[in-house]
Amino acid sequence: MADVILVLNAGSSSIKFRAYDAGRQELPLVLRGVLDGLYTSPAFHAWDGKGAEIGNARWEGGEGFGHAEAVEFLARFLRDEEGGHTLVAVGHRVVHGGMRYAGPARVTPAVVAELTALRPLAPLHQPHNLKPIQILLERRPDLPQVACFDTAFHFTQAQHARAFALPAAITDRGVCRYGFHGLSYEYIASVLPRLDRRAAQGATVVAHLGNGSSLCAMTAGRSVASTMGFTAVDGLPMGTRSGSLDPGVILYLMDELGMDTRAVEDLIYRKSGLLGVSGISSDMRELLASDDPRARFAIQLYTYRIGRELGSLAAALEGLDALVFTAGIGENAAPIRQQVCERAAWLGVEIDGGRNAHGGPRISSEASGISVWVVPTDEELMIAKHTRAIAFGGDAPVRTQGDRP
Ligand code: ADP
Repeated sequence: MADVILVLNAGSSSIKFRAYDAGRQELPLVLRGVLDGLYTSPAFHAWDGKGAEIGNARWEGGEGFGHAEAVEFLARFLRDEEGGHTLVAVGHRVVHGGMRYAGPARVTPAVVAELTALRPLAPLHQPHNLKPIQILLERRPDLPQVACFDTAFHFTQAQHARAFALPAAITDRGVCRYGFHGLSYEYIASVLPRLDRRAAQGATVVAHLGNGSSLCAMTAGRSVASTMGFTAVDGLPMGTRSGSLDPGVILYLMDELGMDTRAVEDLIYRKSGLLGVSGISSDMRELLASDDPRARFAIQLYTYRIGRELGSLAAALEGLDALVFTAGIGENAAPIRQQVCERAAWLGVEIDGGRNAHGGPRISSEASGISVWVVPTDEELMIAKHTRAIAFGGDAPVRTQGDRP
């Protein structure tokens, strides 16, 4: 039984959740899980903080079971679990904070209206991220809610790093580079001082390599540049996203192949990247296990593009002290780290094969001019910390049940 901060990451058909003990300074994980298959075949799965299964359920005839029902079910589950947890605040991952939000924001009806207006900037994510916020605002108006943005961390970038070379009238409408994965980068920046002072204070590129992949250049833990731009389809090739394209390709697809906007969207978000190039899978594990030449080519293209973008970010930083790998591929795929580091030898990177095989944390050799690290990310903990700070102030544990230690 605990006072918990609930962290929600809502997509179109799923809600991932984690609950943290708000009464303890270090916010230990109480439970985590997922509700997926919303509107079709809803299913629920939850584990405690140590990884033991604590619940699962399935519902038939799922059309009537959407975000509202999922949030309702989750609130009930928390209330009933282990003698009853008390929900003291909810933190939400929201992909876009637009031009206004340079940090997390306490949710009010006015904030929700502003975030809803940003829908055109992230049509595939923003509406779904906002659904649980709206539901809780209606049903539990007194429950503190905090929106945490993937864009906010990149607000420190200079204007010339954010602007496209477009007429000012278009830039002024908010058409600029926002950058994403900001909660992951912020978490990495927060733990770097404990690992490597030079990396924390100097020029570091963090490679968030997951289904979505991007690189972020940081100086002293602040974002200077990122490979993702106006949307999360820019930059590196990803699981199913194309990454950067010559804009002329889009015009060609529309003019010569007769594709409309939705067809192009489907192509560049869902049918490209590792999946499109390999024709096999978007999953790096499958590609690494395959001896099909198309799988090898997809990996080659992926690591080549990371190498090129790394060079570009090193130029933006005017030097490089450290490289950090994180997220599903970055944390687990030693062969990908190996290839990326070999392509970065010209920058002074030298990988230690044994350390890399063990997963680090440090995987560069003693002689390497640049330190290379593997650091597991924790975007949800970052959200929980922001939520505590915004909802209750400071870093202090939340005390709502009297004198509980
Ligand atoms: P998301 O962006 O959805 O959060 P993740 O960070 O979980 O994605 O990363 C998913 C990717 O990580 C997939 O391509 C998956 O294959 C890859 N991955 C996870 N574990 C391993 C592993 N042991 N070896 C190689 N790739 C892995």
